[in-house]
Amino acid sequence: MVNPVIAATPAGLYCREGDFYIDPRLPVKRAVITHAHGDHIRWGCQSYLCARDSRSLLRARLGPEAKIEDLAYGDTRHINSVALSLHPAGHILGSAQVRIEQDGQVVVISGDYKDVPDPTCAPMEPLRCHTFVSESTFGLPIFKWPRQEDVIREIRSWWQANREEGRASILFAYALGKAQRVLAGLDTFPGPILTHGAVEKINRCYRSAGIQLPATRYLGDVEDRHLLKEALVVAPPSADQPAWLKRFPKRSRAFASGWMRIRGNRRRRAVDRGFVLSDHSDWDGLVQTILATRADTILLTHGYADEMARWLQEKGRQAEVLSIPAADGDNVAGGLP
Ligand SMILES: [Zn+2]
Ligand SMILES: [Zn+2]
Repeated sequence: MVNPVIAATPAGLYCREGDFYIDPRLPVKRAVITHAHGDHIRWGCQSYLCARDSRSLLRARLGPEAKIEDLAYGDTRHINSVALSLHPAGHILGSAQVRIEQDGQVVVISGDYKDVPDPTCAPMEPLRCHTFVSESTFGLPIFKWPRQEDVIREIRSWWQANREEGRASILFAYALGKAQRVLAGLDTFPGPILTHGAVEKINRCYRSAGIQLPATRYLGDVEDRHLLKEALVVAPPSADQPAWLKRFPKRSRAFASGWMRIRGNRRRRAVDRGFVLSDHSDWDGLVQTILATRADTILLTHGYADEMARWLQEKGRQAEVLSIPAADGDNVAGGLP
């Protein structure tokens, strides 16, 4: 990749003129963070810059010592001859596209994004640019999401049916983003909503940012075992272990993820139900977003980058997979768990 504004280096995408990295995978001096998911944050950077709504999430992940600055969506920070701004990516609370302008050249790094409404975060802002770095997690035409309202309705009916049978409804969903999206979507509740500690911790960040979530109770505080049979229990996939599950002798387990779109994944995860709900764009969403940028150059990361690049090339676009060169000791690189 040859680009006047950004370069792919072993530490990640680097803006030379501004001397900062975007979602670096090694500890660097200045990191600009698209969002607070573990695979986008590297612990140990000297400073972090993120969107304002992301700040409490980043703080929760990085601890009290980290130097974190924030920027409101749309505000510009000038660093040497570079103008840097952050714009909503619609992925999770505080998720941002990073826009860098230098000498009239505009580069946008999308981070993860989705183009469908989500009550827990600002809607994705379409941007025009010369170079667009896009994720392609679900970059195959087979990925087409059902309407979110329909999926939430399915979740509610599943819970209702379990409750009538005296079974706990255990829904596994990523603790940051997905869990809150499910909760915010539920407008009527067949019973109490209980949360795993990891989910409750993130709920607090969302509520402090002004996001409306229904009342939830931390599972560890619940003494009345009777309550468990009527409850929706929201927990991260990592909690799906016999020791944790044994408090629910009668239960139904479900998983909410875009990966549930692939037949057989539900069976492989051995859950009773799979709900197709993703924080990423589906194929149509990716294609529409990419084309709307009118970018001359499209660089693809995450997931089905090869397939997406090939499809765009066949449509006459200049597209390639963004390859980040390997770092020495690459096994130590990466995000938080
Ligand atoms: Zn993400
Ligand atoms: Zn990601």
